[in-house]
Amino acid sequence: MSNPSEFHIAVLPGDGIGPEVMAPCQGLLDHVASKVGGFALRFETLPAGAAHYRDTGVAYPDTSRAVAASADAILLGAMGLPDVRYPDGTEISPQLDLRFDLELYAGVRPVRAVPGLNYPLADPRAKTLDFVLIRESIEGLFASRGKGTLEDNQIATDTLVITRDVSEKLFDFSFDLARRRKEKGHPGNVTCVDKANVFRSFAFFRSIFDERAALNPDLGADHAYVDATALNMVRGPWAFDVLVTENMFGDILSDLGAGLIGGMGMAPSADIGDNHAVFQPCHGTAPDIVGTGKANPTAMILSAAMMLDWLGDKHENAACNQAADLIVAAVDRAFEGGDLVPNELGGDAGTDVIFKAVYAAIEQLLAAQAAAE
Ligand code: ATP
Repeated sequence: MSNPSEFHIAVLPGDGIGPEVMAPCQGLLDHVASKVGGFALRFETLPAGAAHYRDTGVAYPDTSRAVAASADAILLGAMGLPDVRYPDGTEISPQLDLRFDLELYAGVRPVRAVPGLNYPLADPRAKTLDFVLIRESIEGLFASRGKGTLEDNQIATDTLVITRDVSEKLFDFSFDLARRRKEKGHPGNVTCVDKANVFRSFAFFRSIFDERAALNPDLGADHAYVDATALNMVRGPWAFDVLVTENMFGDILSDLGAGLIGGMGMAPSADIGDNHAVFQPCHGTAPDIVGTGKANPTAMILSAAMMLDWLGDKHENAACNQAADLIVAAVDRAFEGGDLVPNELGGDAGTDVIFKAVYAAIEQLLAAQAAAE
């Protein structure tokens, strides 16, 4: 990084609707950077994904891997195509390689309801839902990726791995996040979601959680079984603040979380490690809507805002944090009137319409800010 206020962003648009939401998102990021000032983004687009594998036989080229590892942050669209598979039948998923390569142990999945939309839960509290699910992202059941066994076509096994090192870092990350949220008025509570009543691995996971909780006496800490958590995510998710869980459980619960806030196109995410981070919408490549213009870009936009916030914190660049806040506020303003309803939620707003509404909201917010100064 030559200039400390210029950030090098590795961009992996990927497959399906990935590039459809990524390209306009880069435009939006440049626009916000020029309006806010104080930082700039240098994008470098890298090939990776299922289409690249189909065309070249390589899913994630070493050059892409090296550039991604040297960038200040990584922005990812979505990867995978249903008809393109490795010879063993598994999906092309460089996004998982990235997590393992760069040790991105903390998968941050905010479950925040954007105002103005109708959500599946009828309770009025569903409209102000705001909790965060943290999915451990490099071990758990996914440690078995590519290593499962099958004996005589009779018995298959996959092994779930929990390590002290990663668990401690995961829980410390969770408590830090809860503390930052507490400063903004949230309860400051972390819930460890596990299956400690059945599995040794989860009893270990829970015992490490308790050790780290004891080091954070200013915050609340409790436990819940994953099955009860699934029930309570539907019955009363407004009671949650920060939930932390194993990789596979987090994979499943984060889709449930996305459902609570309107669908995959509304759900942003980040995978964060000690030195690197990837920001990507929770959704996949959505082959059923590719090319229709119906992809909801909100998750991509909010993931980009998470990236700016992370860069701002990491490099003490307040302008980045301001830009992140501006994007989130603009998304909220665009939807709050209730007229902008994504296709995904039964409305008629596709990718372009949603981007236009967010640009318009940015102008309104900046004008209001200028008038107030
Ligand atoms: P993966 O296995 O990669 O997570 P998937 O096939 O399970 O992918 P998605 O690709 O996320 O899941 O698609 C699930 C459903 O959600 C599909 O019907 C898809 O059209 C819809 N969907 C996903 N993302 C969006 C989006 N951004 N806008 C609108 N609909 C979306």
